[in-house]
Amino acid sequence: MNQTNVKAIVIANQDYKEKDVLATLFTLEQGVISVVFKGVKNSNAKLKSAKELFTFGDFIYANGMLNTITSANVVTNFYDITKSLPNFYAACNIAKIIKAVLPAGEANSGLFVDTLKCLNLLNDSTVKPNLVLIKFLVRVFEGFGYRFNLNKCSTCGSAFLNKRYINLNDGDITCVSCKMGRVEELSNAEYQSLRLISLTDYDNLNSLKISSFVIDRTLYILKLNFEHRFGQKLDEI
Ligand SMILES: [Zn+2]
Repeated sequence: MNQTNVKAIVIANQDYKEKDVLATLFTLEQGVISVVFKGVKNSNAKLKSAKELFTFGDFIYANGMLNTITSANVVTNFYDITKSLPNFYAACNIAKIIKAVLPAGEANSGLFVDTLKCLNLLNDSTVKPNLVLIKFLVRVFEGFGYRFNLNKCSTCGSAFLNKRYINLNDGDITCVSCKMGRVEELSNAEYQSLRLISLTDYDNLNSLKISSFVIDRTLYILKLNFEHRFGQKLDEI
């Protein structure tokens, strides 16, 4: 039987038959794939911990109608994410975003590295989880052709003098004269927070001083934009 080695993160799992678990893996080599962990609901099963949500490790599966995990070496299980509801929701949204943007079987090493960085930050609860989620969304928009142009109006090219609007039909940011269709206003504080977060690496997110109110409102706008770009609604806490 053919065996395949992958580096992967478990991004979804559900019970299957009596003792099995069906899981979705985000792999470095093959993007998103479905696998089955057999017999893992037995208390002494050796792959028991490897099937858990957000586990990162090296997996080997046997190719078949259902790819069956035969061996796993857990690098980390990001267990602390489950201890905080906001952190858990942010991580679940990240999993949802990956499934929505990445066609099955298509590898994306940049997105994979970003996902690991986010899970690391969410596991260590010193960074606001919504800040991590905003950074991930900004990176997804950049990576999939929807980078925000924050300096000038996308339609007329003028510098912004006062209000900015995000056009939900195409994700562009426009001035007051060019806004049309379904738009959402981006306040100065939200614009500044978006600009700062875009320019800041994951590792330095915890140095940003942005109020929770502005973070939550910025996330609301990005979630709306995600919904309009990728047709998938993200979860609220
Ligand atoms: Zn304009």
